[in-house]
Amino acid sequence: MLFRSHIVFSLFLYLFYLDLSQASFASKVVFGIFLFLATIFVDIDSRKSKIGNHWFFRPFQWVVSHRGMVHSLLFAFFLSFLLFLVDQTASLGFFVGYLSHLFLDFITREGIFLFWPLYRKKISLFGVKTGRILEEIFFVLVLLVDIWLLFGRFITFV
Ligand SMILES: [Zn+2]
Repeated sequence: MLFRSHIVFSLFLYLFYLDLSQASFASKVVFGIFLFLATIFVDIDSRKSKIGNHWFFRPFQWVVSHRGMVHSLLFAFFLSFLLFLVDQTASLGFFVGYLSHLFLDFITREGIFLFWPLYRKKISLFGVKTGRILEEIFFVLVLLVDIWLLFGRFITFV
């Protein structure tokens, strides 16, 4: 999926979380920062992605394939666990952001190494083609829901 699709979907999850969570303001901010960080981070294995096109990720990309081990549940658990040892809220936000990214790539035709290393093949849930019409529709719909969640509560119908 495209960068912007990942962002609008993560924003949707974050707004949903903000509505439900009883956590302090500081915790909500930390959760949000790490949620978006993870969403963006997952594509470091692609030299075409917003984050992965930085030269210092090249050596890493020589070792791992795009949508390979970084796009796996195990990697999501592993990194979130490391973060958990430092900060639980950050870890939870990171985990949600990571899963959000994996889920969206999982529904694309290209698929991901979801169960790496147990199953070393890309698997895909639907045939959504990255950057094509279905993704555009998805993007616009989620964006509209985001706008509604952001501003809808301020609009009162008299
Ligand atoms: Zn990805």
